[in-house]
Amino acid sequence: MEAFSKPFETACPSCDLLLKVPALAPGSRASCGRCGQEITFHFHNAQHRAAAFALTALILLLLACSFPFLSFERAGFGNEMTLPQTGWALYEDGALVLSGLIFGFIIAVPTSLLGILLALQYALHRRRAWPHLTLLARLLTQLQPWSMAEVFIIGVIVSLVKLASMADIVIGIAFWAYAAFVLCFTAALANIDRHDLWDAIEELQG
Ligand SMILES: [Zn+2]
Repeated sequence: MEAFSKPFETACPSCDLLLKVPALAPGSRASCGRCGQEITFHFHNAQHRAAAFALTALILLLLACSFPFLSFERAGFGNEMTLPQTGWALYEDGALVLSGLIFGFIIAVPTSLLGILLALQYALHRRRAWPHLTLLARLLTQLQPWSMAEVFIIGVIVSLVKLASMADIVIGIAFWAYAAFVLCFTAALANIDRHDLWDAIEELQG
């Protein structure tokens, strides 16, 4: 028989109503009775799925940073760049802030989030009560709004539509790797059950 989640009390993040969330059967969700906001879900093996998606996302991000992202050709002149090279080119052009944003929001924050998620899953799976587990779990929540990977891929697609009329553009393998990374990254974050995670950390740390 599959395990039920633990019941807990919380405030609705949308309307602040105090709620008693009952033990949930696998595959079920709980939402606020007043505003309909989803409060939590309980999927079978959600934490393992989150780790599997996170590992896949990390490999895809590595591929996305290693191969050409886009190549342009116009009037006989061509240029080919990887994702980190685009950030570096901006830095060399003096666009320090933009270059920082690319490295930070597109590469560094998603990589940190995936690293933290995998470290937490490893510690919980192997029952390692590391002293900084609570800090890692808190960072996982606090860093999430600063990851703009999905915004970036939409921005690139919009730019491509505009640039297509001005130059010959070839989409590189890294573009597809980054698009697949965004899907796996989103799936990894969506499979984190925060209540389960904090319960497991609390239990491990006694
Ligand atoms: Zn509500």
